Amino acid sequence: MSTLRAALCSVGDELLAGKHPDLNAPYLARELQALGVEVVEVAVVGDDEQAIAAAVTRLASRAELVFVTGGLGPTLDDVTRHGVARAAGVALMLDPKAHDQVTAWYRTSGREMPASNSRQALVPEGAAVLANPVGTAPGFEVSLEGGAVVRVLPGPPSELRAMWEQGVGGRVRASLGQGTVRVEQRFHLQGLSESQFSDDAGAWLERAANPLVGVTVARGLLTARLVARGATEAEARGVLEPLATQFRVRFQPWIFSEQHATPEEALVEALAARGLWVSAAESCTGGLVAGALTAVPGSSAVLRESFVTYANDAKESRLGVGRELLEAAGAVSEEVARSMARGAARAAGADLALATSGVAGPGGGTPEKPVGLVCFGVWFQGQSWAGSRTWPGRAGRAAVRDWATAHALVLGLRALEGRLPLEPER
Ligand code: ATP
Ligand code: MG
Repeated sequence: MSTLRAALCSVGDELLAGKHPDLNAPYLARELQALGVEVVEVAVVGDDEQAIAAAVTRLASRAELVFVTGGLGPTLDDVTRHGVARAAGVALMLDPKAHDQVTAWYRTSGREMPASNSRQALVPEGAAVLANPVGTAPGFEVSLEGGAVVRVLPGPPSELRAMWEQGVGGRVRASLGQGTVRVEQRFHLQGLSESQFSDDAGAWLERAANPLVGVTVARGLLTARLVARGATEAEARGVLEPLATQFRVRFQPWIFSEQHATPEEALVEALAARGLWVSAAESCTGGLVAGALTAVPGSSAVLRESFVTYANDAKESRLGVGRELLEAAGAVSEEVARSMARGAARAAGADLALATSGVAGPGGGTPEKPVGLVCFGVWFQGQSWAGSRTWPGRAGRAAVRDWATAHALVLGLRALEGRLPLEPER
């Protein structure tokens, strides 16, 4: 099934001058995307007939649906209708229906219609007028020779929205006919980079695929979106489910949630559902784990107390980490991280404890323990686990600390789900 494409053109010198941001194209892009239409280009042009005509011609060669907003007003600098007529290769005509709408607007608002407003009733020959329920300028719709349908709408964002909601959106939806139901499934992943993901996802990421797989990255967390289309919801689900199942299998080690966009939300919910308490013992993350957890509403049901133990003697006095162990293994070691987690769980009376100790950089690295190395300890109901990861230290201190924070939270989730090889405490 091929996807219908749309291209958007926002008209206005003030947009080009950066005087205010374009609100219309992002709005239309979201609405079209929700209908399963792919937006392939967004153009911004000034109030210039030639530039508008050129943009419309080009966009119409790339997309079946073209939307132009702005420059439909009564003043001489509003030339969008002229530009679109030029692209369509037709003349402008005074449309009686449009003229009625403009005069009716002035009648109901109790004002005299300025002569210049009859300009707003000019539409390209052969165009269909689109009613504007909240402003003077109606929009119009015209087909170009190549088959593209160009819809031209007023610039004020409230008018554009009202027109979309009260007619144009429904018209577009109806014109899509078959294959327009869109269903979506999200997966949230941690621990792999965007490029590793695209290598693994391969052909799933092709632009024309159905389901379409898209990915976004924030704070080292990946969100993969699977979007399927079909004539009915059942058909769309039928397309989506097999890929979703394959996706779960292929990316299982990295998926931390299908509902929650962050591991802290997923962990707080998982703990609350089980009635469990969590604590953290943090060295290199300096409280970021506790900060992430307490950013989630409702976290007071799962966290009473957490520890930032930066110096060795703090690890000793607060968490009971042995001095001999600190001296023998070093603070940045899996065994110390394990001992920190155990100590935090005991001190806080928690069921789950997460510990971090690492070299966040930029200084302090050695060949054995380079910048970016972070050791993790997890203690869960009498069992423990320790491990480490090395991130590229050149990404910077903040990135290393963020990655380590997300990783610690995901380790907590894995422990709860029975996906972490915990060992009984000796
Ligand atoms: P009007 O009849 O009000 O003149 P119009 O269709 O001619 O409507 P414009 O003259 O282009 O539209 O813009 C009118 C106002 O709408 C602008 O001053 C601007 O504040 C706002 N506007 C236009 N286009 C956009 C846009 N893409 N994003 C945000 N605001 C816009
Ligand atoms: Mg105007």
